[in-house]
Amino acid sequence: MHIIDRTYIDGKFIEPHGDEWAPLFNPATEDQIGSVRLADAQDADRAVAAAKRAFSTFSNTAKEERIDMLNRLHAAVLARTDDLACAMREEYGAPSNFIGFSAPRAGMVFLEMARTLKDYEFRRRMGSADVEMRPSGVAVAITPWNSNYSFICGKLSAAIAAGATMVIKPSEKSALQTQVITECLHAAGLPDGIFNIVTGYGNVVGAALTTHRDVSKITFTGSTATGRRIVQTAAATMKRVTMELGGKCPTVILDDADLEVVIPQVLAAGFRNSGQACIAGTRILAPESRLNEIEERLSHTVREFRAGYPADDQVQVGPMVSQKQWDRVQSYIRLGQEEGARLLAGGEGRPEGLHRGWFVKPTIFTGVRNDMRIAREEIFGPVLSLIPYRDEEDAIAIANDTDYGLQAHVFSSDVERAKRVANQIEAGRVFINDAPHDPLAPFGGFKQSGIGREFGVFGLEAFLEPRAVLS
Ligand code: NAD
Repeated sequence: MHIIDRTYIDGKFIEPHGDEWAPLFNPATEDQIGSVRLADAQDADRAVAAAKRAFSTFSNTAKEERIDMLNRLHAAVLARTDDLACAMREEYGAPSNFIGFSAPRAGMVFLEMARTLKDYEFRRRMGSADVEMRPSGVAVAITPWNSNYSFICGKLSAAIAAGATMVIKPSEKSALQTQVITECLHAAGLPDGIFNIVTGYGNVVGAALTTHRDVSKITFTGSTATGRRIVQTAAATMKRVTMELGGKCPTVILDDADLEVVIPQVLAAGFRNSGQACIAGTRILAPESRLNEIEERLSHTVREFRAGYPADDQVQVGPMVSQKQWDRVQSYIRLGQEEGARLLAGGEGRPEGLHRGWFVKPTIFTGVRNDMRIAREEIFGPVLSLIPYRDEEDAIAIANDTDYGLQAHVFSSDVERAKRVANQIEAGRVFINDAPHDPLAPFGGFKQSGIGREFGVFGLEAFLEPRAVLS
């Protein structure tokens, strides 16, 4: 059993003031694997006070010093990659293919931000003004349970590069990842108070932090519904906000695509992190002229996406994080059928042979119209919708007919044609074919997928305020 009974404030692991405990479960077995003692509003206050004290010195450190800190954080996180992978597997059942991508990347963001910082000019002359980019003050980071530690690293790297201090409130559902990442970050030996990590409930610690008058910036990753609430709260004190929210990402298969190559990639994008990813490509847009062929190939290839125990390397789809999420996904599978869509693969209930654990059958609906709820709402599970389109123009219209705009994929044998389509999609990131992830590319959403961007220069500037001095 993991007993997590410390919170991290002012460079120390201390007993929280809060004395409420939350259970931790292994979603693959449904067994309780530990408990976490939660911070409360008083702990949030203490953390903000520590970050505020640290800010006066840290905000004036030399760029070279901050680059050195980022490099130390990178080394410290990299040293614990295996422990992070274990925590992800145990705590939310992340499958090996996702862990292999995500765990080694967690520390890399510090290195990449150090590179961005090296080239960044904090002082510029604009007209008759000397303009200096100043750190925005005490920032609050609020993170979700899925890949919690990687969001912590992404947000903290940008704050440190900017010279801002931070209070981080991770999801109470991912306390194990938080524990490991906090130990890593502590091992880097940064001055006290630059970052503080308080795990607690959103409506307690989250609310205390987002209303705190000494906090000037909030960077949030989570659902659009919570993001909306936080933006409303933040408006009272005009806090700056960066919002990384939900998605319903389109995957456009153009009619010249090589389906043998493309279909496994389409499914990998859709079932990423067992479908529990904001960037999962959950709407597959297929040309009517090749619909039958695409249906056949999808129903054949989906068998390679086996659901099961995350420790098994052959498994591509792990369990849902909780019973509540399992119920929610099941209700969407029922809803799809009620709405008139047809099951091409999967369906209700647990996959064959799995009697315990919050597992869902990898599911694909066909005959989906883009106005059905299964095509409009974020399901956050391995449930994909195949939507036919007439021509390129129709594909773009369907891709953009959504409240979200986080990410998209375009598959084609003609890269120039794919780029032409990509340039008309309203999404923060568009991948063409199997283009690799690039950490310097900005990440964030159009429309209700968010506000602002993370990573690279945009990520750094999210923690900076220009001050113009005219003489
Ligand atoms: P959630 O919105 O329920 O919770 C996210 C965080 O907000 C948690 O730490 C929670 O405790 C906190 N919170 C809840 N209410 C709060 C309040 N009133 N004030 C302050 N904080 C509050 O999301 P979740 O279920 O943990 O994560 C899944 C969601 O996150 C999905 O919608 C997914 O799309 C989204 N997500 C987005 C991205 C992205 O980069 N765009 C990445 C991963 C996940």
